[in-house]
Amino acid sequence: MEGRIFVISGPSGTGKSSIIKALRNQVNGLGYTISHTTRAPRSTEQEGVDYHFVDRDRFLRMIDSEGFVEWAEVYGHLYGTSFCSLNEQMSEGSDVLLDIDSQGADHVRSRFESSVLVYVLPPSLEVLEKRLRERGTDDENTISRRMDEAIREIKNCTRYDYVIINEDLECAIEHTKAIVVSDRCRTKRNERLIRDRFGIRVP
Ligand code: ADP
Ligand code: 5GP
Repeated sequence: MEGRIFVISGPSGTGKSSIIKALRNQVNGLGYTISHTTRAPRSTEQEGVDYHFVDRDRFLRMIDSEGFVEWAEVYGHLYGTSFCSLNEQMSEGSDVLLDIDSQGADHVRSRFESSVLVYVLPPSLEVLEKRLRERGTDDENTISRRMDEAIREIKNCTRYDYVIINEDLECAIEHTKAIVVSDRCRTKRNERLIRDRFGIRVP
């Protein structure tokens, strides 16, 4: 079965990382691409686990050498998905999750038509702000910038295939899992199995 790209987007603090972490623990054969960023690491983040943290020069050199599947400037920093990290995840036919913004989602969809786009919404903007504050990783300036951006960013959800409202985290995890599992049951994704076991060709 050929691997599928699942793009997970949503404003900062909406719960993408929490959902992705749970999904990777609960669903087999689900990889995750580690992006490059010029943003400084948060105190909870580790190099090579959450991101590859690089300076702007290094990032610009990677753009010049066509090292990125997609990249974008988000909240004043550069973020990108490298070909290396995507190929590494997809080489074994695994599905892969990409936590990227909506500009990145558009690029991925234009390169990989079959990718599935999922947008994680907070229950409300008030709850989003509360979560950003309670996460305790960003200063007031950053939070206010991210809230301004969230109001613009959320409008892009209409271009996505699915929306998940992350009110109750367990429920949001179950719904995202359902998207991955139902995609794996698509007739088209199982054509080789149907042919090999039953001699039936999927038109
Ligand atoms: P993102 O990756 O989208 O920036 P995070 O996964 O870091 O968001 O979540 C932001 C904060 O909100 C974290 O402190 C996380 O524990 C918390 N959080 C995530 N989902 C929920 C939820 N459904 N209810 C309450 N808090 C949540
Ligand atoms: P954060 O700084 O909160 O980790 O991420 C900020 C935003 O950048 C989020 O919307 C996240 O989805 C996005 N992002 C993270 N990595 C990438 C990437 O590789 N490409 C793009 N386009 N966006 C990314």
